[in-house]
Amino acid sequence: MAKTLTVTNQKGGVGKTTTCVNLAASLAATKKRVLLVDLDPQGNATMGSGVDKHELENSAYELLTGQTEIKDALITDTDVGYHVIGSNGDLTAAEVELLQMPRREFRLKMALEQVADDYDFILLDNPPSLNLLTVNALAASSGVIIPMQCEYYALEGISALVGTIDKINKRLNPELKIEGILRTMFDPRMSLTKDVSNHLVEYFGDKVYRTVIPRNIRLAEAPSHGLPALLYDKNSRGSMAYLALAGELIRKTAQEKQKAQQEEVKN
Ligand code: ADP
Ligand code: MG
Repeated sequence: MAKTLTVTNQKGGVGKTTTCVNLAASLAATKKRVLLVDLDPQGNATMGSGVDKHELENSAYELLTGQTEIKDALITDTDVGYHVIGSNGDLTAAEVELLQMPRREFRLKMALEQVADDYDFILLDNPPSLNLLTVNALAASSGVIIPMQCEYYALEGISALVGTIDKINKRLNPELKIEGILRTMFDPRMSLTKDVSNHLVEYFGDKVYRTVIPRNIRLAEAPSHGLPALLYDKNSRGSMAYLALAGELIRKTAQEKQKAQQEEVKN
């Protein structure tokens, strides 16, 4: 069954979309079956995966509002090695429409359950806010990946996010936990970067991924070609870093599985 992960941070420009696209491509490169769901009306993850957001027959909007079945929203003939459910400006309307709908927090979860056996990983990209779309993502996930830029204001707002994850865990989804904190656009030459990074490790311990994503121009260029960096310049430091992140995630997931099986044997 798929492991579903939400990539979120209510801050914009911290590397959520870059992480979704490049982690999806890296997991796919290691032969994992991956679905990327774009839940941001900006549709950057959609475009960055080489899918035209203006040409979507069925998008995340139709899916969440029950106007399509998930099988008709899946884009499987991509050039990036993973499947996509796309999004565009239509999704803005979903936030309002969802308010009137039954089980409004669980629309995405119900849809994804139908394809959970077809994937190893499902990654959810989010807008820079905490709205009903993000709540849907959190309710459907077992873990949250939080990309963070190690700058002065990075820690501000993080406690609000941790509080939200806590609340969703108690009220909607007891499975939900922080999967990992990812340091993005990392520049080790800046002493402030190191300070903030140290704070993060102090606060979150081994939840902080060992892999650090460097500031790398290829990661910024690749989206304009509709490609993950791995398919644009596979030897770039950015692609290497996301491959390493995929490795770390796969190892962690395998360890968790093993632990759960051992617990089962014990009981
Ligand atoms: P978010 O989805 O959180 O708003 P993005 O992933 O869109 O953030 O990243 C914001 C901008 O920074 C984009 O232009 C992206 O190409 C660029 N970017 C993201 N990560 C890196 C990186 N590691 N190195 C260089 N540029 C990056
Ligand atoms: Mg984004």
